[in-house]
Amino acid sequence: MKQTKLALALDTHCAALGACRQCGHKDPGVVPILSPARAPTVMLVGQAPGQVETSEGERRAFAGRAGKTMFRWLASIGVDEATFRSRVYIAAVTRCYPGAHPSGRGDRVPSRFEQEQCNGWLESELTLIKPRLIVPVGKLAIEKFLPPSSLDLIIGKVHDVEHAGGRSRVIPLPHPSGASSWVNLPRNRALLERALGLLGAELAELWPASAVRRSA
Ligand code: SF4
Repeated sequence: MKQTKLALALDTHCAALGACRQCGHKDPGVVPILSPARAPTVMLVGQAPGQVETSEGERRAFAGRAGKTMFRWLASIGVDEATFRSRVYIAAVTRCYPGAHPSGRGDRVPSRFEQEQCNGWLESELTLIKPRLIVPVGKLAIEKFLPPSSLDLIIGKVHDVEHAGGRSRVIPLPHPSGASSWVNLPRNRALLERALGLLGAELAELWPASAVRRSA
């Protein structure tokens, strides 16, 4: 099958990204996550991968426990994991596992330096893909597109945002990791459900009917 210009550009981009050591990561077992999507119109932007996702064998974002929760959310709007991974370009604020948090609880938040060094990859992807829709997941990713604000005020809404690749609709989601207590408060569950409903409606508009299983 003939590859499109975008697919070829993303192949080249991912080959360079896969070899990146720009912010000083030295552990050869810690490598950048990569997305296999080659004709995406939607991007999802996470924060930073966990250990399981960034090892040589895996290299897939959201392959761990938080990913299971996120794909359960997506299943609730009729989108299965395989379809999502093949149609949505999954990026992140930083692409390599930052290591454990010094407190021993969870992962370290990538430093400002690491975030700045990694930002060029995201800007290139936005410029290449020019996504119609962006789904930032978690505060760090959301603040790449929206001014700092309480999650209560921005989850459950569609935002219109200008970025390196033009303008896109943005539907933010909270981080699905168990470390985030926000999502477990009953009033916030309703905001999450509203956000997922909006996301389902957008995907149903952008994708063929076969990619989104509509509930009867
Ligand atoms: S976190 Fe980003 S900038 Fe740092 S080595 Fe990984 S891909 Fe490169």
